[in-house]
Amino acid sequence: MDSEIEIQQAKNNACVQTDNLAIPVWEDTSGFDPNWLTLIRQYQQDLFPPHLMKKESIKPWFVYYFNENDKAKSTYGCRLCKEYYDQLKLNPVHKPVLANPEGTLKRDRHQNTNTISKHRLSKSHMAVIAALKASKRKT
Ligand SMILES: [Zn+2]
Repeated sequence: MDSEIEIQQAKNNACVQTDNLAIPVWEDTSGFDPNWLTLIRQYQQDLFPPHLMKKESIKPWFVYYFNENDKAKSTYGCRLCKEYYDQLKLNPVHKPVLANPEGTLKRDRHQNTNTISKHRLSKSHMAVIAALKASKRKT
């Protein structure tokens, strides 16, 4: 008699599993366009660290703002910090430069390497991810 209940439970479980398959925004790499690497190589090779740009770890957050009018002045930022830093009401004092909608570009490769390599583990970026995780748990 409880087979019907079991079927219902199985359906419920199936729903839960489907939900779990959805990639959370902080792991979603679909926003990363591989063509950016070609553009960087073409117009800003001296400003970006090629090895770093190929790392999987930058793909969930790195965003390239290609400047059609001044290609060598194209900037970059953090998709997650830009989208969510203010929305999550995090401390504006610690808002990272990569959260600016216009992005940033340092004047040499060394500084850009520093900015890109340190961002993922920076306090502000990690605060965004922690807050996103917490808000997801609530829903
Ligand atoms: Zn960030």
